[in-house]
Amino acid sequence: MTEEYRLDRPTALTCPECGGALRAEHIGNLLQFRCHIGHILSADAMLESQFKLLETKLAAALVALKERAELCRQLSEAEILGADIAALDATRAEALERAKIVKRLLESEWRQISVNADA
Ligand SMILES: [Zn+2]
Repeated sequence: MTEEYRLDRPTALTCPECGGALRAEHIGNLLQFRCHIGHILSADAMLESQFKLLETKLAAALVALKERAELCRQLSEAEILGADIAALDATRAEALERAKIVKRLLESEWRQISVNADA
């Protein structure tokens, strides 16, 4: 896969609860976010929920990479006639190397912040 990904500013934030588009609402000095089916999150709740979603998605990426490596191991060991064992082993090694990157991300310290002065 050589698709090019971009790091531009997102066009919208999405609801950590349902994935729907969010609208920012100013209520006095407060800012909250409301999705189009009614989930309402304060700024701090949004920070916390969005971080949990980030962790969940990184963990899902780690699962997928480990499963790719395991699939390649099982196919390599299955003695399938004509299978390219070297390619399977290289693909397995690639998945494990990339899994290490995601594991490091999951295990590293992440800045936890609050915008509520009382929190
Ligand atoms: Zn929602």
